[in-house]
Amino acid sequence: NASAWLQYTITHYGQGERLIVVRDTTRLHNLEQMRKDFVANVSHELRTPLTVVVGYLETLQDSDEPINPRWKRALQQMEQQSKRMQNLLNDLLMLARLENDDRAVEKKSVDISQMLKSVSQDAQALSAERGHQIHLDTDPAIRLLGADAELRSAFSNLVFNAVKYTSDQGEISIRCWQDQNGTHVSVSDNGTGIAPEHISRLTERFYRVDSSRSTNTGGTGLGLAIVKHVLLRHGARLEIKSTLGTGSVFTCHFPASRDA
Ligand code: ADP
Repeated sequence: NASAWLQYTITHYGQGERLIVVRDTTRLHNLEQMRKDFVANVSHELRTPLTVVVGYLETLQDSDEPINPRWKRALQQMEQQSKRMQNLLNDLLMLARLENDDRAVEKKSVDISQMLKSVSQDAQALSAERGHQIHLDTDPAIRLLGADAELRSAFSNLVFNAVKYTSDQGEISIRCWQDQNGTHVSVSDNGTGIAPEHISRLTERFYRVDSSRSTNTGGTGLGLAIVKHVLLRHGARLEIKSTLGTGSVFTCHFPASRDA
C-alpha cells in the first residue's frame, strides 16, 4: 500500500511569513497498526485453548467422584483465574475492535432509559449480597442516535465499577438528562473516591490506582479504556470528578447532534 501519513505543523511569524514542518509518520503509523493487529491476533488465538481448559475444569468439579479437598481448592482457583483470563481476552478483543473500526456509528434511535434500566438490574444482581442502593433517575422520552451493544458495555463498565469501588450498603445513582448541549448520563457513588493525580490517567490501558485491590475485585484494568473508546466513536466525552474518601461521578456527554 503506497499511502503515506504526513503531519503538518504551521508556525506564523507575522508579515505573512510562516514555517511549515512536514513529518512523515507513515512508519510510526504502520508500527502502531502492527501492535494493534498483534494484540488482537494473540487474544483471538488464546481464546479457544482457554475455553477448553475452563470446560475441563468445570467438568472435573461437577464430577461425582470423591475428590481430595486440597485438589478441590486448587481446581476452584484454577477455574477462577482462567475466567479472569477469559475476561481479559474479551476486553482486549473489544478494545482492538473499537480501535480498528472506522465505520460510522449506526444512526438507529436507542431508548437510553431502557438500556440504563437493564444495566441497573444487572448491577443489582452483581451487588446482591452487598446491599448497595442503586437509584435510577431517567426520562423515558430520551432517545439517542447510536450503536446499542457497545454503548451498553460502556454504561455497564461505569456502573459495575461503582459497585466494585463502593463499600457494602453504599449508594449508587444513575442519571440521564437532556439540555441544549445534548444528552448526559452520569454514574455517581459514595465509594472510595480517587486522588486528583490519578484522574487524568484512569482511561489508560491497565492503569489502576491500587493494583492489588483492583485485582481482587476481578477487574481487567481495561474497563475505562473501553468506555473512552466507545464514547469517542459516538462523538461523546467522559468527565470524571472525584474526591478521595467521598465518592466519584463519571459523566458521559453526548453532543446535541446525537439526540433523536
Ligand atoms: P479495573 O478493572 O481495575 O476496575 P478500570 O479501567 O475500569 O479497571 O478502572 C481503572 C481504575 O480506576 C480502577 O482500577 C480504580 O482504581 C479506578 N476506578 C474506576 N472506577 C472507580 C470508582 N467508581 N471509584 C473509585 N475508583 C475507581
